[in-house]
Amino acid sequence: MIQAAWWHALEDEKVACELCPVGCTLLPGRTGPCGTRSNEAGKMQALHYGEMVSAGMDPIEKKPLYHYHPGQPILSVASPGCNLHCLFCQNWSISQGKGQKTTSTSVDEIVQAAGREKSIGIAYTYSEPLVWFEFVRDTAREVHAAGLKNVLVTNGFLNPEPLAEILPWIDAANIDLKSMDDEFYRKVCKAELEPVLSSIRQFHAAGVHIELTNLLIPGHNDSDDQIDRLIDFVADLDVEIPLHFSAYRPAWKMDAPPTPRSTLERAFQRAKDRLPWVYLGNVGGATGRDTHCPGCGTLVIGREGFQAQVLLKKDGHCPGCDRLLPMVLS
Ligand code: SF4
Repeated sequence: MIQAAWWHALEDEKVACELCPVGCTLLPGRTGPCGTRSNEAGKMQALHYGEMVSAGMDPIEKKPLYHYHPGQPILSVASPGCNLHCLFCQNWSISQGKGQKTTSTSVDEIVQAAGREKSIGIAYTYSEPLVWFEFVRDTAREVHAAGLKNVLVTNGFLNPEPLAEILPWIDAANIDLKSMDDEFYRKVCKAELEPVLSSIRQFHAAGVHIELTNLLIPGHNDSDDQIDRLIDFVADLDVEIPLHFSAYRPAWKMDAPPTPRSTLERAFQRAKDRLPWVYLGNVGGATGRDTHCPGCGTLVIGREGFQAQVLLKKDGHCPGCDRLLPMVLS
């Protein structure tokens, strides 16, 4: 354990956490609901500094990031814990579980492993990396020093000041935008919508490559109105942001039926009327799988599962019409 960042002391050895909008005040000996920070004798400690619950090499398409170094592997690491408690969490055993077995690691070990394994960098993923704040920040600095990239897969539920501290080290992020309905965030995720929207804007303003993912859950966030509001948000912010609609499977405390293909295809068609880059995930089939040039329709990135074949010119231009496409290539 090391002392955490972003907190202040209160009377009677209580501490106030400033990291995320939950805004916990913790009594001595208590741990926050994220499971990552605790009050030890009046000081906030970061519980999982240098502790991993999962590590492995993934194609970057699995994050999902489709327009950032397509076809490249990235070393993906996680610690236990999350500051949201989504009833449908697809990774609940590591995000919400208690007492998971962890492996000790260090900043140097992770950076060296990324270099050795020919990874483009490190993806902080699977649970919520922003509440692994201190270790992600310290690792991300060294990853940059080694000439590699940092990728976050995040719920975006962080206060703006700590986010500003870490963003200079972040190159790309996939951010979950779970719904455009604040009540959904409050009831289903125990969170709020506005801080997530604000974080997305902050990532974008900082020049981070961002892609958004929306997990469609039947009867909860899959109405035309909700889908259209999500599309409006992306279109207003930047039409070049890729939007991934993903299929939900029953998990943890949610037993709604799995997302039918027809729902994903409906969302895809509505979004494609407004946005050039729309994808479908967790579902087979050709719709929303490949990337075509919006100018001439030429296939520029073909995908099979998580494997990608990049057909763009090396300088990012379409081989069909020579239009420059907004992709970050290796
Ligand atoms: S990071 Fe954890 S302890 Fe801090 S406010 Fe959020 S939930 Fe509470």
